[in-house]
Amino acid sequence: TNESVNTNQHLYEIMNEASNFYQYNLFNSVSGERVLEYLSNRKLSNETIKHFELGFSPKEKDLLYQFLKSKGYSVSDMINLGLVKQSNDGTYYDLFTNRLMFPITNSFGKTIAFSGRTLDKNDKVKYVNSPETVIFKKGETVYHLAEAGLDIRKKKFVMLYEGFFDVISPYQAGFTNGVATMGTALTINQARLIKKTVDKVIVAYDGDSAGQKAIISAIPVLLNAGLIVEVLKIPDKKDPDDYIKEYGSEAYQNLLSNNVQDPYQYQYELYRENLDLNNSNDIKTFQANVTRMLQNASPAIVSLYTKRIADELRINEKDVK
Ligand code: ATP
Ligand code: MN
Ligand code: MN
Ligand code: MN
Repeated sequence: TNESVNTNQHLYEIMNEASNFYQYNLFNSVSGERVLEYLSNRKLSNETIKHFELGFSPKEKDLLYQFLKSKGYSVSDMINLGLVKQSNDGTYYDLFTNRLMFPITNSFGKTIAFSGRTLDKNDKVKYVNSPETVIFKKGETVYHLAEAGLDIRKKKFVMLYEGFFDVISPYQAGFTNGVATMGTALTINQARLIKKTVDKVIVAYDGDSAGQKAIISAIPVLLNAGLIVEVLKIPDKKDPDDYIKEYGSEAYQNLLSNNVQDPYQYQYELYRENLDLNNSNDIKTFQANVTRMLQNASPAIVSLYTKRIADELRINEKDVK
């Protein structure tokens, strides 16, 4: 409502200040240089870094807290926004330290959360996200959707990715219509947000088995939101960022032209690959998977796959049904 937008105004302002602080620190600190080097190793240009408003949270435990305090913002707001925490001895410390920072925006393009990537290979937690707050609901947020809205409408489809770098690398290569779910399972609210912008989505999750599983669970959610769904198959267990870095943007365009499947075809082939007809357990799993896949499918699609299974597995159609 308008009222809650107004009462939250200062919260958006704090998040914006924090984002500016992280960005400034990336380009204007000694430790930021190492992060810029990291980004340049990942082949990102300064222009791309600026478009995505990437930043760096300093190593020191409370520089953001000090900065926001000096601007006159209240500690309780900082805490409620998940930017600052209080330790047992009563002192305050920043949630994000020594991380590459990705601002996450709402549908109006306002920063509502951050994700921070570690630059330390030994760190067990690769990405830390802001907690849920008054202005940030993870399941109702799609990374880069506000910024890419115009390009998505122009291209008449959106590319849906797993990770931040999978949005960013393709963007730099000219594929500017990408958004991401930030790791967790896609929610119906995220799918509905996408549907408000465009009718068609190409799912381009990582090519590893975690990505395959995530695709299988995302498909019914996207279909339920009324979207036309296609799946981009990324070879060699790579993710889109890895793929573009290794093979270039032309190869990625070729993938988009040649390696896209409809959601039934994609699932069916995956299930078929894992089926050994000499193994009754495999057959059971295959049955369960195909049954689930066809649960809400149209009669025409059900009939098509009934026939296909009958032909390929040499079972009569009545038994397939
Ligand atoms: P990178 O390319 O930086 O190594 P990635 O995006 O390829 O990272 P994945 O492991 O494929 O990382 O995870 C995909 C996405 O899932 C990440 O971009 C991030 O949004 C989210 N994610 C990964 N690990 C975590 C974590 N420990 N906590 C929260 N979110 C995570
Ligand atoms: Mn992954
Ligand atoms: Mn990945
Ligand atoms: Mn990656």
